[in-house]
Amino acid sequence: MASLRDWTKKTILASGVLRFAGDFQGSSAAILMYHSVLKDPARESDSLGGIIHSEPIFRAQMEMLARDYHPISLDRAVKHLRNGEDLPRRSVVITFDDGYADNHEVAMPILNQFAVPATFYVTVDCVENKRPPWPSRLRFAFRRTKVASWIDASAKSWTLTAPENRENAFLVACDSCCQLSGTAQEEFIRRIEQALQACLSDQTDSLMMNYDQLRELTRHGHIVGSHTMTHPNMAYLKEDEARRELADSKQRLEAQLGASIKHFSYPCPALSPHWSERTVEQSRVLGYETGVTTNSGLIRRGDNPLCLKRLHPTKTVEGLRWNLESAFAGRTV
Ligand SMILES: [Zn+2]
Repeated sequence: MASLRDWTKKTILASGVLRFAGDFQGSSAAILMYHSVLKDPARESDSLGGIIHSEPIFRAQMEMLARDYHPISLDRAVKHLRNGEDLPRRSVVITFDDGYADNHEVAMPILNQFAVPATFYVTVDCVENKRPPWPSRLRFAFRRTKVASWIDASAKSWTLTAPENRENAFLVACDSCCQLSGTAQEEFIRRIEQALQACLSDQTDSLMMNYDQLRELTRHGHIVGSHTMTHPNMAYLKEDEARRELADSKQRLEAQLGASIKHFSYPCPALSPHWSERTVEQSRVLGYETGVTTNSGLIRRGDNPLCLKRLHPTKTVEGLRWNLESAFAGRTV
C-alpha cells in the first residue's frame, strides 16, 4: 500500500495539479518545524527519538527549498501578517525548536550555503545547564534502564522488560512531567533517573547550544527566539508559572544576546492542547510579537501572530514537497 500511495503522490506532483491549484489560493507562507540535524541520527535515537533529520536529507531539503520555493525570514513573514506586505509565491520560513548544538554545528553551514534564513527557538534552562529538554532525559532513562519495574506517582507498578512496556511507562511519565516547570520538574526527572539508574546527563554535556553559538547564529543573520525556560506544556501550568516561563526566558536571552527577543515557540509535550487564549494574552503583554505552535497549516494575512501554525517537514525530500504543495493547494496535511 505504501508504494501505491507513494506512486500516486509522485504522479500527482508530476502532473502539476497541486501547483496549479496553489496559484489560486490567497497569499500565504509555510513555517517548517525542525529540531535536530545529525550526521549519525542513530547515535542519539534513545534520547531525541524521532525528531532527528540526517544531514544529507536536510541538505537535500534546503537545496530544494532554495531552488523551487522562496525561503524568507520570520520577520518578513510577520510584516505580511501585520501590514499585508506582499510575499513571493511559495514562501517558506525555517524554524528549529529546543536548541540542540547540531543546529549550529551541522544545520547552520548548510542554511548559510543556500542563503536560507532560519529562526532558532531555545529552551533557556537547557542552554544554561547543558542538559537536553526533559522528554529526551525521560526517554533515555526508560530505554536504557536495566531496572525491571517502575512505580508511578499513583503507586501503579510498570514492568520494564519489553520495549513496548518501557514506551508505555515513558508516556505515563510524560503526561505528569509536562504539567510541571522549574524545580518541581527537575525533581520529578531526578527521581525517575535515580529509580531507573539511567541518566542522560551522565553520558553527554554537549547536546545543547551555548550562548556563544547563539550569538554566532545571530551574526549570520538568523533569529533566536524563546522556547520557554524548562519546556513545559504551557496550557497546563498555573498562571504565574506560565508567565515566568515566558518572561524569564525572554529576559535572559536578551541579556546574553544584547538584542530584543520577539519570537516564541510553544513546546508540545504529551498532553493536548499546548497553548491557550490565556497564554497567547500573556505572551502579548510580555512583548512577544509572534508565537508558533505545532498545529498544522499555513499562515495567512489576518492570522493572530501569537498562535501561528506550522508544517512538519517529513524525513524525505519528496515528502516535504508533497506537504508543501498540498498545503499551498488548500489541502489539510
Ligand atoms: Zn520542544
